[in-house]
Amino acid sequence: MTAASDCQTSSLCLARTEVRHLPVYNAGLSEEAVRAKYGISRITKLGSNENPYGPSPAALGHWAEIASSLFRYPDASAEGLREELSRQTGIDTNRIVIGNGSEQIIRMICEAFLSPADRLVTVLPSFGLHLIWPQMMGARAEAIPMTPEARFDLPALHQAVTSAPLKVLMFSNPSNPVGCMMTGDAMQALIDACPADTLIVIDEAYWEYARSSQDYADSLSILEKQSRPWIVLRTFSKAYGLAGLRVGYALTSDPGLTAVMTRVRDPFNSNSAALEMARLSLLDQDHMLRTVDSTLTEGRALKSALEKRGYFVAQSFANFLFFDARESASDLAGRLLEHGIIVKPWKETGYENWIRVSIARSEDSHAFLQAFDHVRKPLHSSAA
Ligand SMILES: *Cc1c(COP(=O)(O)O)cnc(C)c1O
Repeated sequence: MTAASDCQTSSLCLARTEVRHLPVYNAGLSEEAVRAKYGISRITKLGSNENPYGPSPAALGHWAEIASSLFRYPDASAEGLREELSRQTGIDTNRIVIGNGSEQIIRMICEAFLSPADRLVTVLPSFGLHLIWPQMMGARAEAIPMTPEARFDLPALHQAVTSAPLKVLMFSNPSNPVGCMMTGDAMQALIDACPADTLIVIDEAYWEYARSSQDYADSLSILEKQSRPWIVLRTFSKAYGLAGLRVGYALTSDPGLTAVMTRVRDPFNSNSAALEMARLSLLDQDHMLRTVDSTLTEGRALKSALEKRGYFVAQSFANFLFFDARESASDLAGRLLEHGIIVKPWKETGYENWIRVSIARSEDSHAFLQAFDHVRKPLHSSAA
Protein backbone atom coordinates (compact mmCIF):
# COMPACT_ATOMS: atom_id res chain seq x y z
CA MET A 1 0.00 0.00 0.00
CA THR A 2 1.34 3.46 -0.83
CA ALA A 3 1.21 6.40 1.50
CA ALA A 4 -1.21 8.15 -0.83
CA SER A 5 -3.77 5.37 -0.74
CA ASP A 6 -3.97 4.73 2.97
CA CYS A 7 -4.29 8.20 4.46
CA GLN A 8 -7.07 10.71 3.99
CA THR A 9 -5.70 13.92 5.51
CA SER A 10 -2.33 15.61 5.10
CA SER A 11 -1.65 15.23 8.84
CA LEU A 12 -2.27 11.50 8.66
CA CYS A 13 -0.05 11.20 5.56
CA LEU A 14 2.70 12.92 7.52
CA ALA A 15 2.49 10.32 10.31
CA ARG A 16 4.58 7.15 10.44
CA THR A 17 2.76 4.19 8.91
CA GLU A 18 2.33 2.56 12.32
CA VAL A 19 0.82 5.74 13.78
CA ARG A 20 -1.44 6.23 10.77
CA HIS A 21 -3.14 2.93 11.55
CA LEU A 22 -3.18 3.28 15.32
CA PRO A 23 -6.58 2.96 17.02
CA VAL A 24 -7.50 5.82 19.37
CA TYR A 25 -7.53 4.79 23.04
CA ASN A 26 -10.99 4.99 24.61
CA ALA A 27 -10.22 6.96 27.77
CA GLY A 28 -13.83 7.17 28.94
CA LEU A 29 -15.87 10.21 29.87
CA SER A 30 -15.19 12.82 32.51
CA GLU A 31 -17.81 13.97 34.99
CA GLU A 32 -17.57 17.50 33.63
CA ALA A 33 -18.27 16.39 30.06
CA VAL A 34 -21.38 14.46 31.09
CA ARG A 35 -22.58 17.29 33.33
CA ALA A 36 -22.21 19.82 30.51
CA LYS A 37 -23.81 17.65 27.84
CA TYR A 38 -26.81 16.35 29.78
CA GLY A 39 -27.28 19.14 32.32
CA ILE A 40 -27.29 16.69 35.23
CA SER A 41 -25.69 17.70 38.52
CA ARG A 42 -25.38 14.28 40.18
CA ILE A 43 -23.00 12.07 38.24
CA THR A 44 -22.11 8.51 39.23
CA LYS A 45 -18.76 7.69 37.64
CA LEU A 46 -18.34 3.95 37.22
CA GLY A 47 -16.32 3.91 34.01
CA SER A 48 -12.68 4.08 35.12
CA ASN A 49 -12.27 1.76 38.13
CA GLU A 50 -11.32 4.58 40.48
CA ASN A 51 -11.36 4.16 44.25
CA PRO A 52 -14.25 6.34 45.51
CA TYR A 53 -12.88 6.30 49.08
CA GLY A 54 -9.94 8.39 47.92
CA PRO A 55 -6.30 8.51 49.02
CA SER A 56 -4.95 7.90 52.50
CA PRO A 57 -6.04 10.70 54.87
CA ALA A 58 -2.65 10.41 56.57
CA ALA A 59 -0.92 11.06 53.25
CA LEU A 60 -3.28 13.94 52.46
CA GLY A 61 -2.30 15.51 55.78
CA HIS A 62 1.08 16.30 54.19
CA TRP A 63 -0.41 17.92 51.10
CA ALA A 64 0.41 21.55 51.97
CA GLU A 65 4.01 20.64 52.75
CA ILE A 66 4.30 18.76 49.44
CA ALA A 67 2.86 21.75 47.57
CA SER A 68 5.40 24.13 49.14
CA SER A 69 8.29 22.42 47.34
CA LEU A 70 6.69 22.33 43.90
CA PHE A 71 9.21 24.87 42.58
CA ARG A 72 11.85 22.09 42.68
CA TYR A 73 12.29 19.50 39.97
CA PRO A 74 11.34 16.04 41.21
CA ASP A 75 14.00 13.49 42.14
CA ALA A 76 14.65 11.95 38.73
CA SER A 77 15.66 8.67 40.34
CA ALA A 78 12.56 8.55 42.61
CA GLU A 79 14.79 7.23 45.38
CA GLY A 80 12.36 7.63 48.31
CA LEU A 81 9.48 5.82 46.65
CA ARG A 82 11.69 3.05 45.25
CA GLU A 83 13.20 2.46 48.68
CA GLU A 84 9.79 2.05 50.31
CA LEU A 85 8.64 -0.24 47.47
CA SER A 86 11.80 -2.25 47.94
CA ARG A 87 11.09 -2.62 51.66
CA GLN A 88 7.55 -3.82 50.95
CA THR A 89 8.24 -6.14 48.01
CA GLY A 90 11.70 -7.46 48.87
CA ILE A 91 12.87 -6.46 45.36
CA ASP A 92 16.07 -4.42 45.24
CA THR A 93 15.71 -0.74 44.23
CA ASN A 94 17.80 -1.34 41.10
CA ARG A 95 14.99 -3.60 39.87
CA ILE A 96 12.22 -1.00 40.31
CA VAL A 97 11.09 1.53 37.67
CA ILE A 98 8.62 4.34 38.40
CA GLY A 99 6.22 5.56 35.71
CA ASN A 100 3.79 8.41 35.17
CA GLY A 101 1.09 5.81 35.65
CA SER A 102 1.82 2.19 34.78
CA GLU A 103 0.40 3.01 31.33
CA GLN A 104 3.59 4.93 30.68
CA ILE A 105 5.64 1.88 31.67
CA ILE A 106 3.72 -0.25 29.16
CA ARG A 107 4.78 2.30 26.56
CA MET A 108 8.39 2.26 27.77
CA ILE A 109 8.46 -1.54 27.55
CA CYS A 110 7.22 -1.40 23.96
CA GLU A 111 9.69 1.34 22.99
CA ALA A 112 12.60 -0.46 24.61
CA PHE A 113 11.97 -4.05 23.53
CA LEU A 114 9.70 -4.26 20.47
CA SER A 115 11.03 -3.98 16.93
CA PRO A 116 8.85 -3.99 13.82
CA ALA A 117 7.40 -7.46 13.14
CA ASP A 118 8.19 -8.75 16.64
CA ARG A 119 5.36 -10.91 17.92
CA LEU A 120 3.43 -10.19 21.13
CA VAL A 121 0.65 -12.29 22.63
CA THR A 122 -2.08 -10.87 24.86
CA VAL A 123 -5.76 -11.65 25.56
CA LEU A 124 -9.15 -10.55 24.21
CA PRO A 125 -11.02 -8.61 25.51
CA SER A 126 -7.92 -6.63 26.21
CA PHE A 127 -6.63 -3.60 28.04
CA GLY A 128 -6.39 -1.19 25.09
CA LEU A 129 -2.77 -0.16 25.59
CA HIS A 130 -1.54 -3.78 25.58
CA LEU A 131 -2.41 -3.64 21.85
CA ILE A 132 -1.98 0.02 20.95
CA TRP A 133 1.62 0.57 22.14
CA PRO A 134 2.92 -2.64 20.49
CA GLN A 135 1.21 -1.60 17.25
CA MET A 136 2.83 1.83 17.52
CA MET A 137 6.20 0.06 17.34
CA GLY A 138 5.12 -1.97 14.32
CA ALA A 139 4.96 -5.20 16.31
CA ARG A 140 2.39 -7.89 15.56
CA ALA A 141 0.02 -8.19 18.51
CA GLU A 142 -2.15 -11.30 18.78
CA ALA A 143 -5.07 -11.27 21.22
CA ILE A 144 -6.31 -14.69 22.37
CA PRO A 145 -10.05 -14.69 23.24
CA MET A 146 -11.26 -15.68 26.69
CA THR A 147 -13.49 -18.76 26.95
CA PRO A 148 -17.29 -18.38 26.64
CA GLU A 149 -17.38 -18.61 30.46
CA ALA A 150 -15.21 -15.45 30.54
CA ARG A 151 -12.02 -17.10 31.80
CA PHE A 152 -8.47 -17.27 30.48
CA ASP A 153 -8.40 -19.85 27.67
CA LEU A 154 -5.31 -21.71 28.84
CA PRO A 155 -5.07 -24.28 26.00
CA ALA A 156 -5.41 -21.49 23.42
CA LEU A 157 -2.78 -19.41 25.21
CA HIS A 158 -0.41 -22.40 25.28
CA GLN A 159 -0.93 -22.89 21.58
CA ALA A 160 -0.25 -19.18 20.95
CA VAL A 161 2.97 -18.99 22.97
CA THR A 162 4.43 -22.13 21.38
CA SER A 163 3.27 -21.76 17.76
CA ALA A 164 5.83 -19.15 16.59
CA PRO A 165 8.72 -17.08 17.95
CA LEU A 166 7.44 -14.90 20.77
CA LYS A 167 9.08 -11.67 21.88
CA VAL A 168 6.60 -10.60 24.57
CA LEU A 169 3.74 -12.19 26.51
CA MET A 170 1.68 -9.42 28.14
CA PHE A 171 -1.63 -9.61 29.96
CA SER A 172 -3.31 -8.32 33.09
CA ASN A 173 -4.07 -10.55 36.08
CA PRO A 174 -6.79 -10.05 37.21
CA SER A 175 -7.88 -9.28 33.68
CA ASN A 176 -9.16 -5.85 32.80
CA PRO A 177 -11.97 -5.76 31.60
CA VAL A 178 -13.13 -9.28 32.55
CA GLY A 179 -12.01 -9.43 36.19
CA CYS A 180 -11.10 -13.13 36.00
CA MET A 181 -7.83 -14.31 37.47
CA MET A 182 -5.12 -16.75 36.52
CA THR A 183 -4.12 -19.24 39.21
CA GLY A 184 -0.54 -19.90 40.21
CA ASP A 185 -0.53 -23.36 38.60
CA ALA A 186 -1.87 -21.99 35.32
CA MET A 187 0.62 -19.13 35.27
CA GLN A 188 3.50 -21.45 36.03
CA ALA A 189 2.54 -23.77 33.18
CA LEU A 190 2.03 -20.93 30.72
CA ILE A 191 5.39 -19.33 31.51
CA ASP A 192 7.13 -22.72 31.31
CA ALA A 193 5.68 -23.13 27.82
CA CYS A 194 7.12 -19.82 26.57
CA PRO A 195 10.42 -19.76 24.63
CA ALA A 196 13.44 -19.21 26.87
CA ASP A 197 13.98 -15.63 25.71
CA THR A 198 10.37 -14.35 25.82
CA LEU A 199 9.85 -11.23 27.94
CA ILE A 200 6.99 -11.95 30.34
CA VAL A 201 4.96 -8.89 31.36
CA ILE A 202 2.23 -9.33 33.98
CA ASP A 203 0.13 -6.22 34.54
CA GLU A 204 -1.14 -6.39 38.12
CA ALA A 205 -3.06 -3.10 38.27
CA TYR A 206 -5.65 -4.84 40.51
CA TRP A 207 -3.22 -6.91 42.58
CA GLU A 208 -4.34 -5.38 45.91
CA TYR A 209 -7.91 -6.60 45.26
CA ALA A 210 -6.94 -10.14 44.24
CA ARG A 211 -3.92 -10.91 46.39
CA SER A 212 -5.79 -12.62 49.24
CA SER A 213 -8.00 -14.73 46.99
CA GLN A 214 -7.27 -18.40 47.14
CA ASP A 215 -5.15 -19.62 44.18
CA TYR A 216 -4.39 -16.12 42.83
CA ALA A 217 -0.99 -16.41 41.18
CA ASP A 218 1.90 -15.15 43.29
CA SER A 219 3.64 -13.92 40.16
CA LEU A 220 6.83 -12.71 41.85
CA SER A 221 7.66 -16.08 43.37
CA ILE A 222 6.78 -17.91 40.14
CA LEU A 223 8.85 -15.56 37.99
CA GLU A 224 11.85 -15.49 40.34
CA LYS A 225 12.18 -19.27 40.03
CA GLN A 226 12.77 -19.26 36.26
CA SER A 227 15.21 -17.59 33.92
CA ARG A 228 13.11 -15.70 31.37
CA PRO A 229 13.24 -11.91 31.64
CA TRP A 230 10.11 -10.49 33.31
CA ILE A 231 8.33 -7.33 34.42
CA VAL A 232 5.42 -7.03 36.87
CA LEU A 233 3.42 -3.79 36.70
CA ARG A 234 1.47 -2.27 39.57
CA THR A 235 -0.17 1.09 40.15
CA PHE A 236 -1.29 3.64 42.72
CA SER A 237 -4.32 4.52 40.57
CA LYS A 238 -6.69 1.85 41.80
CA ALA A 239 -6.56 0.57 45.40
CA TYR A 240 -4.45 3.53 46.59
CA GLY A 241 -6.91 6.05 45.14
CA LEU A 242 -4.30 8.21 43.38
CA ALA A 243 -5.45 7.97 39.73
CA GLY A 244 -5.25 11.73 39.25
CA LEU A 245 -1.59 11.96 40.29
CA ARG A 246 -0.37 9.35 37.76
CA VAL A 247 2.07 6.97 39.37
CA GLY A 248 2.76 3.30 38.79
CA TYR A 249 5.77 1.02 39.06
CA ALA A 250 7.48 -1.94 37.49
CA LEU A 251 9.31 -4.73 39.30
CA THR A 252 11.83 -6.34 36.94
CA SER A 253 13.83 -9.56 36.76
CA ASP A 254 17.22 -7.84 36.84
CA PRO A 255 19.01 -4.48 37.00
CA GLY A 256 19.93 -4.83 33.32
CA LEU A 257 16.26 -4.65 32.31
CA THR A 258 15.78 -1.62 34.55
CA ALA A 259 18.75 0.07 32.88
CA VAL A 260 17.34 -0.54 29.40
CA MET A 261 13.96 0.87 30.39
CA THR A 262 15.63 3.90 31.94
CA ARG A 263 17.14 4.71 28.52
CA VAL A 264 13.67 5.40 27.13
CA ARG A 265 12.26 7.04 30.27
CA ASP A 266 11.67 10.80 30.39
CA PRO A 267 14.15 11.89 33.08
CA PHE A 268 11.50 13.65 35.21
CA ASN A 269 8.60 11.38 34.29
CA SER A 270 7.08 11.33 37.79
CA ASN A 271 6.12 14.57 39.46
CA SER A 272 7.22 15.30 43.01
CA ALA A 273 3.69 15.35 44.45
CA ALA A 274 2.96 11.93 42.97
CA LEU A 275 6.21 10.44 44.26
CA GLU A 276 5.67 11.67 47.80
CA MET A 277 1.94 10.90 47.97
CA ALA A 278 2.62 7.38 46.69
CA ARG A 279 5.35 6.85 49.28
CA LEU A 280 3.14 8.13 52.13
CA SER A 281 0.23 6.00 50.89
CA LEU A 282 2.40 2.90 51.10
CA LEU A 283 2.97 3.69 54.77
CA ASP A 284 -0.80 3.67 55.40
CA GLN A 285 -1.66 0.09 54.43
CA ASP A 286 -4.67 0.11 56.78
CA HIS A 287 -6.55 2.69 54.76
CA MET A 288 -5.90 0.87 51.49
CA LEU A 289 -6.89 -2.51 52.94
CA ARG A 290 -10.12 -1.09 54.38
CA THR A 291 -11.15 0.37 51.01
CA VAL A 292 -10.31 -2.90 49.25
CA ASP A 293 -12.45 -4.76 51.78
CA SER A 294 -15.43 -2.46 51.35
CA THR A 295 -15.09 -2.73 47.58
CA LEU A 296 -15.01 -6.53 47.56
CA THR A 297 -18.09 -6.65 49.82
CA GLU A 298 -19.97 -4.20 47.62
CA GLY A 299 -18.90 -6.17 44.53
CA ARG A 300 -20.59 -9.33 45.80
CA ALA A 301 -23.83 -7.39 46.38
CA LEU A 302 -23.76 -5.74 42.94
CA LYS A 303 -22.94 -9.04 41.22
CA SER A 304 -25.89 -10.82 42.80
CA ALA A 305 -28.20 -7.87 42.01
CA LEU A 306 -27.30 -8.22 38.32
CA GLU A 307 -27.60 -12.02 38.43
CA LYS A 308 -31.01 -11.75 40.05
CA ARG A 309 -32.07 -9.75 37.00
CA GLY A 310 -30.93 -12.64 34.79
CA TYR A 311 -27.54 -11.37 33.54
CA PHE A 312 -24.35 -13.38 33.22
CA VAL A 313 -21.64 -11.60 35.23
CA ALA A 314 -18.01 -12.73 34.91
CA GLN A 315 -16.39 -13.77 38.15
CA SER A 316 -14.35 -10.76 39.29
CA PHE A 317 -11.27 -10.45 41.48
CA ALA A 318 -10.97 -6.69 40.93
CA ASN A 319 -12.95 -3.49 41.56
CA PHE A 320 -15.26 -3.84 38.55
CA LEU A 321 -17.77 -6.24 37.04
CA PHE A 322 -18.04 -7.27 33.37
CA PHE A 323 -21.44 -8.50 32.28
CA ASP A 324 -23.34 -9.48 29.16
CA ALA A 325 -26.13 -6.91 28.78
CA ARG A 326 -27.67 -8.91 25.88
CA GLU A 327 -28.20 -5.69 23.91
CA SER A 328 -25.89 -3.12 22.34
CA ALA A 329 -23.63 -1.98 25.17
CA SER A 330 -22.96 1.38 23.49
CA ASP A 331 -26.67 2.16 23.14
CA LEU A 332 -27.35 1.09 26.71
CA ALA A 333 -24.42 3.13 28.04
CA GLY A 334 -25.73 6.13 26.10
CA ARG A 335 -29.12 5.82 27.79
CA LEU A 336 -27.45 5.47 31.20
CA LEU A 337 -25.55 8.72 30.55
CA GLU A 338 -28.84 10.57 30.28
CA HIS A 339 -29.36 9.53 33.91
CA GLY A 340 -25.88 10.65 34.92
CA ILE A 341 -24.39 7.15 35.09
CA ILE A 342 -21.01 6.58 33.43
CA VAL A 343 -20.05 2.95 32.65
CA LYS A 344 -17.73 1.50 30.00
CA PRO A 345 -19.42 -0.24 27.06
CA TRP A 346 -16.99 -2.69 25.42
CA LYS A 347 -16.24 -2.21 21.71
CA GLU A 348 -14.02 -5.14 20.76
CA THR A 349 -15.43 -7.70 18.34
CA GLY A 350 -17.47 -10.35 20.10
CA TYR A 351 -17.94 -8.22 23.23
CA GLU A 352 -20.15 -5.42 21.89
CA ASN A 353 -22.94 -6.43 24.30
CA TRP A 354 -20.70 -6.36 27.36
CA ILE A 355 -20.48 -3.57 29.91
CA ARG A 356 -17.78 -2.94 32.48
CA VAL A 357 -19.05 -1.23 35.62
CA SER A 358 -16.79 -0.16 38.48
CA ILE A 359 -17.54 -1.26 42.02
CA ALA A 360 -17.81 1.81 44.22
CA ARG A 361 -19.92 2.62 47.33
CA SER A 362 -23.34 1.09 47.90
CA GLU A 363 -25.05 4.40 47.07
CA ASP A 364 -23.26 4.32 43.71
CA SER A 365 -24.46 0.77 42.98
CA HIS A 366 -27.95 1.86 43.99
CA ALA A 367 -27.90 4.83 41.58
CA PHE A 368 -26.59 2.57 38.82
CA LEU A 369 -29.21 -0.16 39.36
CA GLN A 370 -32.04 2.35 39.54
CA ALA A 371 -31.06 3.95 36.22
CA PHE A 372 -30.25 0.55 34.70
CA ASP A 373 -33.74 -0.78 35.52
CA HIS A 374 -35.17 2.33 33.92
CA VAL A 375 -33.32 2.09 30.60
CA ARG A 376 -32.46 -1.59 29.99
CA LYS A 377 -34.42 -3.73 27.54
CA PRO A 378 -36.35 -6.42 29.39
CA LEU A 379 -34.72 -9.85 29.15
CA HIS A 380 -36.92 -12.57 27.73
CA SER A 381 -37.42 -15.94 29.35
CA SER A 382 -34.74 -17.50 27.13
CA ALA A 383 -32.42 -16.40 29.94
CA ALA A 384 -29.80 -19.06 30.56
C1 LIG B 1 -5.92 0.98 35.31
C2 LIG B 1 -4.95 0.10 34.61
C3 LIG B 1 -3.62 0.46 34.43
C4 LIG B 1 -3.12 1.71 34.82
O1 LIG B 1 -2.94 2.62 35.14
P1 LIG B 1 -2.16 3.89 35.51
O2 LIG B 1 -3.22 4.79 36.01
O3 LIG B 1 -1.51 4.37 34.25
O4 LIG B 1 -1.18 3.45 36.53
C5 LIG B 1 -2.74 -0.41 33.82
N1 LIG B 1 -3.15 -1.61 33.42
C6 LIG B 1 -4.41 -2.01 33.58
C7 LIG B 1 -4.80 -3.36 33.13
C8 LIG B 1 -5.35 -1.17 34.18
O5 LIG B 1 -6.61 -1.56 34.30
